[in-house]
Amino acid sequence: MCRNCTTKTVNRRALMAGGLALSLTAPFVSRALAEDIGAAAPVSPQEALQRLMDGNARYVANAAIDTDHSAARASRAQGQQPFAAVVSCSDSRVAPELIFDQGPGALFVVRVAGNFINEEGLASLEYGVAVLGIKTIVVLGHTACGAIGATISSIADNTLPPGHLPSLVNAIRPAVYDVMASKPTDLLAAATAQNARLNAERAQSEGPILSEAHAAGKLSSVAGIYEIATGKVVLL
Ligand SMILES: [Zn+2]
Repeated sequence: MCRNCTTKTVNRRALMAGGLALSLTAPFVSRALAEDIGAAAPVSPQEALQRLMDGNARYVANAAIDTDHSAARASRAQGQQPFAAVVSCSDSRVAPELIFDQGPGALFVVRVAGNFINEEGLASLEYGVAVLGIKTIVVLGHTACGAIGATISSIADNTLPPGHLPSLVNAIRPAVYDVMASKPTDLLAAATAQNARLNAERAQSEGPILSEAHAAGKLSSVAGIYEIATGKVVLL
């Protein structure tokens, strides 16, 4: 077995034996370290979401403050304590740390074209909650999403794209079907919003880790749309 493979196996075993056994509130790093990394971690889901939206307001105003990426490098080498997770599209115009004006170590990001939560994404979010202690999950759709548009075209033309692309279409299709019946004037926008809503709902309901954290008031999951033209995030 290769050196890297061995390392990965050990890490996975360590995670299963210790990491996931931690309580949902167990800090991954000490409070002192967290404060050294940057601002003190938000204590509530509401505070975490407000911190994100405050950052987006700075981004919209082109007044970003979290741009010193070399600060606290030594502290980050010791651990991480992100306060929020963002499920975003792979679209090159949708960069969560920039959009929310957050530096390294602040956001736990799950990205896939079409910003849906698959099994691996769900497991990643569970790790973020159970081990890293994130307080809020934002499922972030965006305007002019090519993955949503391709899914709409696939349904309209009754065809599937080549290669592995059907896996994206199949994951996004439920949101498109949901809104097609009401014949919205802007099907792309309606399907994009519904896709974000469905996946935020999945983050709320999937058990046991995420659903229990929500029930305990320690986690929130919300859907939002990033407007490429303005830079603004609108919560749904
Ligand atoms: Zn997209």
